[in-house]
Amino acid sequence: MARHTGSVCKQCRRERTKLFLKGDRCLTDRCSVERRGYPPGEHGRRRVKETDYLMQLREKQKARRVYGVLEKQFRAYYRQAIGEKGRTGENLIRILESRLDNVVYRAGLAVSRKQARQLVTHGHVAVNGRKTDIPSFQVRQGDTITIRERSKDSPVVKQALESFQREQVPWIEVDRKQLSAVMVERPGGESVDVPIRDEMIVELYSR
Ligand code: SF4
Repeated sequence: MARHTGSVCKQCRRERTKLFLKGDRCLTDRCSVERRGYPPGEHGRRRVKETDYLMQLREKQKARRVYGVLEKQFRAYYRQAIGEKGRTGENLIRILESRLDNVVYRAGLAVSRKQARQLVTHGHVAVNGRKTDIPSFQVRQGDTITIRERSKDSPVVKQALESFQREQVPWIEVDRKQLSAVMVERPGGESVDVPIRDEMIVELYSR
């Protein structure tokens, strides 16, 4: 399974915005965007002409980085979004939000999507009672996500659960005692607070 292995803070600096990829650190003054709010690299401080294409590209890259998705898979999600009813941009965000690693993060079972992905790939998560170790698994309305019984004592799970008090989203209901969450509604609309202008991604892929 391919994934980005470089510095995630550089990704935020490239997008000139906080993408919250590192959990609690993102909320402190150690955040790289707070300290060096210009793009990384030798020419990072140069002025760049902001063309429509560049801005559309940046929105797409931002979305890929927030959800930790590589280009090929992102395009596949876009094609899926076109095929669904409704606005393509909204469909795309809903598909991304429905990824299992994102739902684990949104439920407050991990400090970041990266950590949520680790919980999933290490086999600590079950969907409707069945172990599911595929981060891209699409969670559906009504599905129940649980931390598996045998995983509750694992150090990585304990570390993740220390952050369990984080604010939740309205489309997921969390049972703190059972360490489980149910997707009660499909994600979408204003309940998805990602700093992404989805219409620009559609414009980019429609060129
Ligand atoms: Fe981005 Fe978080 Fe790193 Fe700040 S600390 S640059 S928000 S990943």
